[in-house]
Amino acid sequence: SGKMGFAVAEAARDAGAEVTLISGPTHLEPPDQVFVEKVITAQEMYQSVMRRCPEIDIFIGAAAVADYRAVAQNPEKIKKTAAALTLELVRNEDILAAVAEQQPGPFTVGFAAETEKLLVHARDKLVRKGIDMIAANWVGQGRGFNTDDNELVVVWSDGEVELDRQPKGPLARHLVAIVAERYRAVTCPEV
Ligand code: C5P
Repeated sequence: SGKMGFAVAEAARDAGAEVTLISGPTHLEPPDQVFVEKVITAQEMYQSVMRRCPEIDIFIGAAAVADYRAVAQNPEKIKKTAAALTLELVRNEDILAAVAEQQPGPFTVGFAAETEKLLVHARDKLVRKGIDMIAANWVGQGRGFNTDDNELVVVWSDGEVELDRQPKGPLARHLVAIVAERYRAVTCPEV
């Protein structure tokens, strides 16, 4: 739905960050004092994120980006003549992993929506994508997607914290506070 991403953008703005929100199609109102860039496809989101990457300190990827796209796009309506239709799909870039690969790159935070073994999959994703932090949540049975509240387990290399079920606004503020704390620990460890 974009609700979590928009809530995180607002929370980061309220915490004093200069925020760019790169958003796919959503019906949500763009937040005030946040620079919003609208994209439609996963490829556009990838290009837009990579363009801004060199100038950002923290990247939080909350979009549910499609993993695959159709190889060909038909400009006209596809007529239902065939009894079966096969769509050929190719993998989309993993935006989060691509940002995490940049050297030097921003502090990277991802989301993980899981239906089983939440912590195992979250830790695996943290390592596999080479990111700094992951916010994991259960999905299914009215949890996670297109809901107004959510609960998260925030995981990083040597720690984790659970954020109880609450509206996405306050939840995003807690998450941003944790991100800020870890970001400070990583960028100026002596403070
Ligand atoms: O691998 P999975 O899709 O479960 O990982 C979820 C995380 O990866 C989210 O933070 C999502 O925004 C990000 N992602 C991405 N580009 C993709 C797919 C997922 O940035 N193509």
